[in-house]
Amino acid sequence: MVRAAVLPAVGSPLEITDIDLPEPGPGQVRVRLAAAGVCHSDLSLTNGTMRVPAPAVLGHEGAGTVVSVGEGVTSVAPGDEVVLNWAPSCGSCHPCSLGEVWLCVNALNGAASVYARTADGTELHPGLNVAAFAEETVVAENCLIPLPEGIPLTEAALLGCAVLTGYGAIHHAAKVRAGETVAVFGAGGVGLATLQSARIAGAAQIIAVDVSPEKEELARRAGATDFVVASETTAKDIRKLTGGQGTDVAVECVGRAVTIRTAWESTRRGGRTTVVGIGGKDQQVTFNALELFHWGRTLAGCVYGNSNPATDVPTLANHIREGRLDLDALVSERIALDGIPAAFDNMVKGKGGRALVVF
Ligand SMILES: [Zn+2]
Ligand SMILES: [Zn+2]
Repeated sequence: MVRAAVLPAVGSPLEITDIDLPEPGPGQVRVRLAAAGVCHSDLSLTNGTMRVPAPAVLGHEGAGTVVSVGEGVTSVAPGDEVVLNWAPSCGSCHPCSLGEVWLCVNALNGAASVYARTADGTELHPGLNVAAFAEETVVAENCLIPLPEGIPLTEAALLGCAVLTGYGAIHHAAKVRAGETVAVFGAGGVGLATLQSARIAGAAQIIAVDVSPEKEELARRAGATDFVVASETTAKDIRKLTGGQGTDVAVECVGRAVTIRTAWESTRRGGRTTVVGIGGKDQQVTFNALELFHWGRTLAGCVYGNSNPATDVPTLANHIREGRLDLDALVSERIALDGIPAAFDNMVKGKGGRALVVF
């Protein structure tokens, strides 16, 4: 039996309970979690904005140590430190064959499987494949990325979602070049990782936008050169900060229609907007045909930072070892498993950066 945070049904509060986790089958690996980050997507899965089969153990941003391996597993061995990858790629579908592994059509096949049971025998699904809100989990071998040397295991959890997403938004999606100006909307875990990544890219000016003025200190520590408290005049405020032009790039980490529209309006003519935030179907963003022509801007979605975790995690490890990427600065609180509901409440209220469950 291991402790886990179970989502009994969409819309129900999480229950902290013991679950029965079987030994790993062929191609599977059992991992003892060191830490798991609480991501906004976990909240979206809880309230039904996004859906996976339930009852489930959520948590998709984690790192830990391999306990045991099933038959045929060759890439890791007991004792190895690993980062969990919630979107494993199959290597053979059309997007995978084009190198767009973040769009793998088979990435979430594992979510429908039954991977554990509650004490009374109820079947449990592994959330977004990796069920990291538990002391231990069993995952497919391709959900693991070996942790590079010299990276603290606890904070490495953040590599699994927030950091890959924020780094990828800047480097793969928006392709920020040195000297460009960047606005980042939302200063939660992903937003803070995006700010740090803009700093790594050599952005000349990095403007953080958040509804909460309390985020300013966290945002500046992550590399923001300016901070704007979100209001009806945000686009105008950003224009003023950039000599009347608007930024070269905007990254939206909120997932709301008004923020996406404001991000787009905050860029210069020809500017690029990357949408990282995951919103609901009710969030309609509108543009008129003339302004699309006049401004010549681009607007693009972004999945998991358009990242390839197998190659990006080693790159991120270099940035960490050489002091350019500070994982600790992304963590706003360290909590126990039973602190997840309170961390969800904080996300709803827009407070803090990343809450990290430390086991
Ligand atoms: Zn996430
Ligand atoms: Zn694939």
